[in-house]
Amino acid sequence: MKMLSSLNRTETIDQLQQNTFDLIVIGGGITGAGIALDGASRGMQVALIEKEDFASGTSSKSTKLIHGGLRYLKQFEIGLVREVGRERAIVHRLAPHLVTAEKMLLPLVKGGTYGELSTSLGLWVYDVLAGVEGEDKRTMLSKKETLEKEPMLREDILRGGGYYAEYRTDDARLTIENIKTAADYGAISINYVKATDFTYDDAGKVNGVSCVDRQSGNTFNIRARYIISAAGPWVDELRRKTGSIEGKRLFLSKGVHIVVPHERFPVRQSVYFDNDDGRMIFAIPRHRVTYIGTTDTTYEGDLDQIPINQEDVDYLLEATNRMFPDANLSTEDVESSWAGLRPLIYEEGKSASEMSRKDEIFESDTGLISIAGGKLTGYRKMAERVVDLVVKKYVAANGEAASFKDTHTKKIPLSGGPFKNTAEVRRYRQEIEGMIIPMGLDSYYATYLVANYGRQSEEILDKFGHYDQRAEAALARAEAWFCVRQELALTLLDFFDRRTGRLYFHLPSILPLLDIIGEDFAAYFNWSDEKLAGEKEQVLAAIRHVTDFEYASEVAGEEKV
Ligand code: FAD
Repeated sequence: MKMLSSLNRTETIDQLQQNTFDLIVIGGGITGAGIALDGASRGMQVALIEKEDFASGTSSKSTKLIHGGLRYLKQFEIGLVREVGRERAIVHRLAPHLVTAEKMLLPLVKGGTYGELSTSLGLWVYDVLAGVEGEDKRTMLSKKETLEKEPMLREDILRGGGYYAEYRTDDARLTIENIKTAADYGAISINYVKATDFTYDDAGKVNGVSCVDRQSGNTFNIRARYIISAAGPWVDELRRKTGSIEGKRLFLSKGVHIVVPHERFPVRQSVYFDNDDGRMIFAIPRHRVTYIGTTDTTYEGDLDQIPINQEDVDYLLEATNRMFPDANLSTEDVESSWAGLRPLIYEEGKSASEMSRKDEIFESDTGLISIAGGKLTGYRKMAERVVDLVVKKYVAANGEAASFKDTHTKKIPLSGGPFKNTAEVRRYRQEIEGMIIPMGLDSYYATYLVANYGRQSEEILDKFGHYDQRAEAALARAEAWFCVRQELALTLLDFFDRRTGRLYFHLPSILPLLDIIGEDFAAYFNWSDEKLAGEKEQVLAAIRHVTDFEYASEVAGEEKV
């Protein structure tokens, strides 16, 4: 495996400046990461730049499901459901430790969105489109069976349930593992480098990107034959820079999730339930927490700081308390939260939740190719489509001599693997559990390590013995060591948010670790005391952002639909 070390940053920037790449990808979310892997594995020389951290945009703020999107069936988006439905099984196969099977319960309630017959038929179509087989095929449940699966459901309006297969992941980890796998094929990716403008050839076509290194403030250019903008919610901002934003444009919809301790909302399994406004909401148990989402509101505020309003939190709490009356959740129970923007393609006269989740490719007169819309689940196919377009252009311009391999990401296991199947992941987790219990770690950390890092867990555990703190702190230090050397973690927040998910799924663990991980980062990167204090403050500000909802509502610039 190629090392992706933040300690080699200067060398990486030199390489970016010295080469002419076949392809520059702007944006290190799941779309950009998937494109980098597809392009590099076909034999292209690829550079990827990300203005913040990888997955810091929408790709760490989703519901974290690898799903076919049952609700899109209602909107007759058959093609979309078929494609993403089939992708679920593929992405699971590529990283079964990171994309795990998750059965979903859809309670049928009086006056709800789905009736019994339409649910039975809908889930059947869903399974057929996605090619679901065997035990994973949907089953319909009686009221009694539904309550056995989830006793917390509201009984008086319950009629029965649908039970079907989906997958769950960690979106930020899926992104970083794609970046790392792309590096194995020679792609050069870097975070905290922003595309500020484009360079053009004599014919007015883009032939490079002007960048700023947001760590040093230095500016530099990267040259390439083709440029794809996979900048998610920022796609139109970049299109505007090339002076061409005609035709379709983006529409941003905000989605908020809240996280509560599992003991406060101990659902036994994932539930996809009705709210009284006709929208559907997920409640998903995840180790020590349950998360609930999402909202779907028009957004026109600051793209870099998306507020989580008390109103958003109340909406989710009220919906949950309505369907799970004994939960009695209040704002005090909310341990963390996140808000993300769906970069949807605008359609006249439709509300946020009605707008299609299909992806689109836009080409500017200047040759800039942009891709937006779509879903986390469909990232591999999106990448394939847009890289096919680049290959077509390349061949048209250079003849067959410039041909590249066909896409074959379907057969490239993501880093952290390979695992043949879930059974092999389970056996590996047992092995890890056998290793960590004598180290003084709870068995929870076996699940955590294997889901986050797969087979890379052993490298982290090898390092564990170098530290003599209490077990949890020693483990976090070993993870930090790994994330700096193998995953381009550059800031404390990269570590606590995108690499380990602690900001969302284990927030109380952060403060006891902040000083010690801060000192390690300061030693790795030679930080001054002032820099270290600033880094810690960023983590504290992020904690305030996901827990302090009144503050967020003061800066809101949005409108409910
Ligand atoms: P992003 O992740 O936003 O990446 C774009 C990146 O470009 C950003 O990191 C940004 O910093 C960078 N960038 C921008 N401008 C520049 C520049 N000038 N220079 C360099 N870099 C730049 N999909 C599913 O399949 N399953 C789900 O459960 C699901 N749930 C969702 C729930 C919510 C609330 C939301 C909002 C979305 C959900 N989605 C889901 C959709 C999915 O999350 C998105 O489709 C996907 O993450 C978009 O990824 P992206 O890479 O296109 O955008």
